[in-house]
Amino acid sequence: MRRKLIAGNWKMNCLKADGMALAKAVFDKARGDLPFDVLICPPMSLLGMVAALPHTIGVGAQDVAVAPKASGAYTGDVSAEMVRDLGATHAIVGHSERRALHDEEDFIVQTKAARAIEAGLTAVICIGETLEEREAGKALDVVTDQVRGSVPVIATAENCVIAYEPIWAIGTGKVPTTADVAEVHAAIRAELAAILGSEIAEGMRILYGGSVKPSNAKELLAVDNVDGALIGGASLKADDFWAIAETQM
Ligand code: PEP
Repeated sequence: MRRKLIAGNWKMNCLKADGMALAKAVFDKARGDLPFDVLICPPMSLLGMVAALPHTIGVGAQDVAVAPKASGAYTGDVSAEMVRDLGATHAIVGHSERRALHDEEDFIVQTKAARAIEAGLTAVICIGETLEEREAGKALDVVTDQVRGSVPVIATAENCVIAYEPIWAIGTGKVPTTADVAEVHAAIRAELAAILGSEIAEGMRILYGGSVKPSNAKELLAVDNVDGALIGGASLKADDFWAIAETQM
């Protein structure tokens, strides 16, 4: 039985005061014995401070360096080891904004995921098709290719999570039909089985991301093979983020 994961991606948002208040509010709501896991991913500027607050949930980075070493002459980069040292448990890699704005191709994403895992983090690997690809009937091919290219061979159900985020659904208020979500998630799991074996594939969580809100979360999270959500905009308000989580109580 896969435990659901409710994950927030704050992106490049929040100065110190707002970010700390948001983190504290989420940490307070998430206390106690929950029937699901929770993760927040603040920007790198706040990661250490947020992780230093008392908390009982996951805290993750939004990226890690691709550099082959944990330290060295890589100006501006932050290694997975440094992220772990700040107290993080997870790292998002391959978000579509990084793939598009930083030319991160599958091989880079796969390398970053491996760096995260080797440093003791759980890698949250993002994949998803563009609107053009969906309209051309290529969504399944694109997404399964991304799984094959982005998931490292050292991935297990414990150290890796997949996040299916159709690019056209991110921040737009549009969401795929539940039938489309089910079809893609089933294809992702089948591809994971092909590359990692059926036991690992069965245990690995596959999140849905893209305009998840309190109003649609219950329906999306009830779809077969949807093991949680990666939430952008709605994770910036503790009440909205928690209203999504509470649909799983
Ligand atoms: C995201 O960027 O990971 C995301 C899912 O954003 P939103 O929820 O705002 O669509």
